[in-house]
Amino acid sequence: MSISNKTRKTLWAKSGNRCCLCRIELIQDSDSMHDDLIIGEECHIISSKKDGPRGELKCDSDFDHYDNLLLLCANDHKRIDELTDIYTPEKLKQIKNIHETWVKTTLEKDVLAFTNDKYNIKSLSRIKTGKQVVDLINGAHMFQFDHDELHTAEEAELVGGFLGELRDYGDILSDMEFMQVSKLGVEFNEIINEIEHKGFLLFGLRRKLRLRNSKKEDMGLFDTTTLVAIRKDNPSIIGDFLIAKLESTDLNLNI
Ligand SMILES: [Zn+2]
Repeated sequence: MSISNKTRKTLWAKSGNRCCLCRIELIQDSDSMHDDLIIGEECHIISSKKDGPRGELKCDSDFDHYDNLLLLCANDHKRIDELTDIYTPEKLKQIKNIHETWVKTTLEKDVLAFTNDKYNIKSLSRIKTGKQVVDLINGAHMFQFDHDELHTAEEAELVGGFLGELRDYGDILSDMEFMQVSKLGVEFNEIINEIEHKGFLLFGLRRKLRLRNSKKEDMGLFDTTTLVAIRKDNPSIIGDFLIAKLESTDLNLNI
């Protein structure tokens, strides 16, 4: 077994990109020539190897299950694996629990606390009505639509279909009559209700992105709409906000 993508995402999201022990940021600046430095490590509470740290103890879950993992910086990973008499499984679970509660309560107080422009970590607002969707796409030049993994053909049709439809409307909305636009908002209300009924929430963001062509030439700023459909149990949802790492601030256009 290895750590699944879902477990990995949950671990990073719930830890707020911070070490559970020293709270240092786990993705750090690098110079412009290199990628950002990732100093976070997904650490096992009980090692799968008998002679590994805490490996002689019984593990209640799969070794790579979320319950047997915590996120630490490289230094603290070494510390907990050497000082196993201090860092017992109970102690580590307590540390993880306190840390994740700290992240959650800090976010609830100040949802922007973990947003970070440099790393493109943004907060997206919950979209509850058709009018909000219309306002979000009306007049935008570019669209970024995405969704959590879809499991059934019905989900694909509903969520994928809706986002596809929005892309088409985005191009013609500004030419539509006021009345038509209002009616469209009402139509979207029904679809949003249906999507929520199936276990998804919508989050959106409008921002200006700089566009570059293949020669890296600046093509100017473009109004861009981001809209995503996220499963209700996604740990990145904090109240009426989604904290998400978006792909890039600069969109590259291959022309
Ligand atoms: Zn640390």
